[in-house]
Amino acid sequence: PRNGFCNANSTFYSKRKPLALPSNDSLDVTTFISSQTHRGTTAFIDAATDHRISFSNLCRAVDRLANCLHHDVGIQRGDVVLVLSPNSISIPIVCLSVMSLGAVVTTVNPLNTAGEISRQIADSNPKLAFTTTELASKLAGSDISILLERVVDTLCAPGGLKVVGILSEMMKKEPRGQEVIRNRVNKDDTAILLYSSGTTGQSKGVNSSHGNLIAHVARYIAEPFEQPQQTFICTVPLFHTFGLLNFVLATLALGSTVVILPRFDLGEMMAAAEKYRATTLILVPPVLVTMINRADEIMAKYDVSFLRTVRCGGAPLSKEVTEGFMKKYPTVDVYQGYALTESNGAGASIDSVEESRRYGAVGLLSCGVEARIVDPNTGWVMGLNQTGELWLKGPSIAKGYFRNEEEIITSEGWLKTGDLCYIDDDGFLFIVDRLKELIKYKGYQVPPAELEALLLSHPDILDAAVIPFPDKEAGQYPMAYVARKSGSNLCEKKVIDFISKQVAPYKKIRKVAFIDSIPKTPSGKTLRKDLLKFAISKL
Ligand code: AMP
Repeated sequence: PRNGFCNANSTFYSKRKPLALPSNDSLDVTTFISSQTHRGTTAFIDAATDHRISFSNLCRAVDRLANCLHHDVGIQRGDVVLVLSPNSISIPIVCLSVMSLGAVVTTVNPLNTAGEISRQIADSNPKLAFTTTELASKLAGSDISILLERVVDTLCAPGGLKVVGILSEMMKKEPRGQEVIRNRVNKDDTAILLYSSGTTGQSKGVNSSHGNLIAHVARYIAEPFEQPQQTFICTVPLFHTFGLLNFVLATLALGSTVVILPRFDLGEMMAAAEKYRATTLILVPPVLVTMINRADEIMAKYDVSFLRTVRCGGAPLSKEVTEGFMKKYPTVDVYQGYALTESNGAGASIDSVEESRRYGAVGLLSCGVEARIVDPNTGWVMGLNQTGELWLKGPSIAKGYFRNEEEIITSEGWLKTGDLCYIDDDGFLFIVDRLKELIKYKGYQVPPAELEALLLSHPDILDAAVIPFPDKEAGQYPMAYVARKSGSNLCEKKVIDFISKQVAPYKKIRKVAFIDSIPKTPSGKTLRKDLLKFAISKL
């Protein structure tokens, strides 16, 4: 081994502590988390209502709900439960209950349109949806049963949806029979289906097992935060891997407190940070930019003296933004992290003040993770400081995609991340570029293939390609190159409006250019990088 973390085959090993996995093969992730002993600690605080739930009350609520879901709703091992909700402390309760029964959680972005949600329903075939009265209308037309978070005024179920229960009432109900129900779960059973477009194509369910999630949580237990008893402010969405895996499952197992806000609002986030004396903010890069731009106003209005760290991930964070942030907030350190939905939190992270000084790096490889850097053209495995596609291996890498044959894992168990990276002499990972098609708008996934399919459904469009146009605030936004049918005088506004009506706001096409034909390789693959270079040269 060179430097202790890179061997002669150029496989990189984590420099973190070794990972200890439970030996029990029939353990579900809920039981694993609830067997950690943090009885007295406050697990979650709902910033909107100031409602707090301790670790032990959370475990009790999870068992009560699981009992009702099993006896009253008939949820069985393998059934899928869809979670369509803004961030709230009900999400951890619902997800942990469902998984304790051996049933499968799938989450959906509440900003998605009814059409987008119906495609996920058709793909994942859920038996039940957990949602709010406000969002239930997005499920109208599907014959799914719903569990409502609470009833606002009158119990209204749009479009013939069948309400099978109200969460707040279910948790008050006396348990039927044995309070704790654990269906026998094997570590390879699917626990969760988070949707991601991966390296190519449309969004698909990432098939992650109980074993994958246990390995993720065990990583945090092996290498806890510098101070485990931290208070986090979480505004990142809990339907996404970044929020759900790290700031629900892992922080819970560590005995930290997470303050959950329903959505991102700078004023509300800073007010909550002051009120709950938060030590850590969990953010995506565009929020750091906003915090830099509005630093004087923030410092004048809020006491941020308890704040020690900002944990940032989901999209690239430039050295300039990190330095700009440190200049404005000199007592707050920026800890980056890098992972993918497909890796269930495994990737790299910065975990100490010393490591955070390596500006531009996303951190050291997570414990239990092996990595390779592979030349995407030749397949050659590269060494230290050489740039290529990052491949990852380890116990939390997902099993593959749900009902989708697309290969993301090689026969030797490597996940091809689609990210162009290098690893330096000290083991720090740097992300150089993204090879895959994926566009990230403010950290949200926008799969170009989805927008291209919609564009091609327009009667005036012959061919189209969607590319990630760089943007200072959002990181990237979708730009379309469109080849019109002959005689068409379709304009930019009409294309933008045509798409806007059909997609969630974060997926909107924000720029259109017309072209005679879309450049392709001889095998018919769109030359996106060429289009992007062309678009940037026109700036
Ligand atoms: P998702 O599956 O939505 O979490 O998206 C994963 C992708 O987001 C990765 O493959 C990267 O392209 C990108 N990403 C996540 N974190 C970072 C980071 N810290 N720096 C650069 N890109 C990132």
